[in-house]
Amino acid sequence: MYIFLDIDGVLNGDQEYSRLRKSLRDAGLLSHKQSVLDLKPEHAREEHLLMLLSGEKISILNELIQKTGAEIILSSTWRNSDNLWGFEAETLLKKAGFQGKIAGKTGESLDSRGAEIARKIKSMALEDGDYIILDDDPTTKDARILTGSRNRWIRTATSKGLTPRHLSQALDLLAP
Ligand SMILES: [Mg+2]
Repeated sequence: MYIFLDIDGVLNGDQEYSRLRKSLRDAGLLSHKQSVLDLKPEHAREEHLLMLLSGEKISILNELIQKTGAEIILSSTWRNSDNLWGFEAETLLKKAGFQGKIAGKTGESLDSRGAEIARKIKSMALEDGDYIILDDDPTTKDARILTGSRNRWIRTATSKGLTPRHLSQALDLLAP
């Protein structure tokens, strides 16, 4: 059993991004016009990325993993350390309290998140019941179209991320 996991908009929301932005501005590392993405690589610290991993949302994910035994396939842009100023998502997730296992990640970037997930589903020959997808990216719907699968996507709200409601939905989908 696998969970295709996005991070931005799933393990964080507006609150985490605002907090990081404020902290970087207070430290003089960003101007008021700049966004988090404008941070200079030499100023990037692990603690900055950890601020984007909500302990509360990771607890929800841990509970889902504990109840289902599912392993993670990272589909987030965080899967590539080039997007994280060289830091590794797995290390960050563990430091933030993640207790599951990362079994893999989707491959190279394609036109859409959904296409990337679809390619991985096909290469692993996954059946509908073998996985769910936690993602806020609307192109995730492509995965369903491209694989002809039933809907295995639980869409989170970009501003809010993972909530207890999504946990129940995921348990319903993953229950045998
Ligand atoms: Mg996202």
